[in-house]
Amino acid sequence: MNLLEVRDKSWMNFVNGEWLHSADFIAVENPATGQVIASIAVASEDDVSRAVVAARACVASGALTRCRPSIRAEMMMRIASEIRTRIEDGAYIGCLESGKPLNAARAEFEEAARYFEYYAGMADKIEGSAIPLGGAYLDYTIREPHGISVHIVPWNFAPSICARSLAPALAAGNVVIVKSPELTPLAMIILFEAIEQAGVPEGAVNLLCGYGKTTGAALVSHPDIDQIVFTGSVQTGVSIMKAASERSVPCVMELGGKSAGIVFADANLDQVVESVKSGTFYNAGQVCSALSRLVVHDSIYDMVVERVSAMAEALEVGDGLVGADMGPVVSELQLGKIEGMCDRAKSAGARLVTGGKRLHDKSGWFMQPTVFANVDPNMEIAQAEVFGPVLSIIKFHNDDEAFEIANATRFGLVAGVFTQRLDIALKAPPRLNAGQVFVNEWFAGGIETPFGGNKMSGHGREKGQEAIDSYVRTKNVAISLPL
Ligand code: NAD
Repeated sequence: MNLLEVRDKSWMNFVNGEWLHSADFIAVENPATGQVIASIAVASEDDVSRAVVAARACVASGALTRCRPSIRAEMMMRIASEIRTRIEDGAYIGCLESGKPLNAARAEFEEAARYFEYYAGMADKIEGSAIPLGGAYLDYTIREPHGISVHIVPWNFAPSICARSLAPALAAGNVVIVKSPELTPLAMIILFEAIEQAGVPEGAVNLLCGYGKTTGAALVSHPDIDQIVFTGSVQTGVSIMKAASERSVPCVMELGGKSAGIVFADANLDQVVESVKSGTFYNAGQVCSALSRLVVHDSIYDMVVERVSAMAEALEVGDGLVGADMGPVVSELQLGKIEGMCDRAKSAGARLVTGGKRLHDKSGWFMQPTVFANVDPNMEIAQAEVFGPVLSIIKFHNDDEAFEIANATRFGLVAGVFTQRLDIALKAPPRLNAGQVFVNEWFAGGIETPFGGNKMSGHGREKGQEAIDSYVRTKNVAISLPL
């Protein structure tokens, strides 16, 4: 496949088992070059209605809900296997539209396949319970799907985040309408080609492409949907929750983060440096659970600043297709926001140790890996999500202060501690207000481990067995038995 083949294609919506033409399209660009590579459909309000009608008909048919759950499991294993045959195509397209390294784009498709395999194994294990009420009653619970589950997907890991919610939703018997992100919608089309090829009931899985403010807003405010699963920014999430509250539509919210890793005096610094390399600079820092603040004990502060900055300076920044360590950020707008935050951090008194600027010698949207030291916990750079390759290093003197700094933002997605002492590692998690805690390795865990936020980082959990709880409602049945 070459660039031209990608460019020749106008990518469409997938509704009721068919690829739908569209009157309007959005140009999709390669952030590594700034050039347009394809165009993606914009689903109109009529397309949104068509998808909801098709989804409702699928719910009513019972094709997913009332079938034997093992049938859903088989369907999901077929989807996983179709995804696996498309990993190279999907990775290539994902790399072109996001600029991320090819290996990372490949890992996303592998992860998408794993989600379907993992939740296929759960489809026939979503069990209720029997509740003892005494001789005159039989009481039991059924865990039922919501019905039409709407999933809004962000641009940073579109195929894997889509699979993260789609797989458990289908396992539980929901019918799903997905809205793709406008900046990186193409790799998700490959995912939906896999779904189409695997064979799913008509209307069971639908894809709408387009802008958030039009297509997305029409979808989440549609009167006939039963659940919203939103992954994206706090600002959009809050506006969706407000709209959903009008109709009491339940939401899962996976929002932003400003996560801190605490480096205690006894930490293994090799582990710290490796964690910053992946935690701060993976996907050019465009990760909700990025390690964006390092809170370091004063006895090792200078050494940590020096080692982390040396690692950042050694990273090769370039087009993901040619195997660089770090690709571009997703758009010129995003690059401008990141640079602006770096400029304001300098003005506020943070010490720029390395980076801080865009790379002017490249045609795309490349940011230098950036490290700030002497950051005050109240500065904007230590409080607001940058969503770029920028680390803030903050000093602490005693343990209480470290936990206080780590918790002192409006977010609560992930947190980490670096220490060789078991007692510190075990005492830290209860003191950290976050949905997950890493010890000595940022991003430790997998699709099997629950993931989600506290505070403004959201609510509900994805991944692991616990995600199934987000996609079912419990119904209690109490039967009065004749004596
Ligand atoms: P965003 O909120 O701008 O957009 C996310 C999605 O919402 C896109 O598909 C967009 O088209 C859609 N959207 C925008 N306005 C809408 C509206 N009014 N109604 C319905 N849909 C609308 O976020 P983004 O810039 O794409 O993603 C980056 C953000 O996502 C960051 O804050 C990041 O931390 C967060 N994120 C969170 C997780 C997580 O699991 N917690 C994962 C990835 C990204």
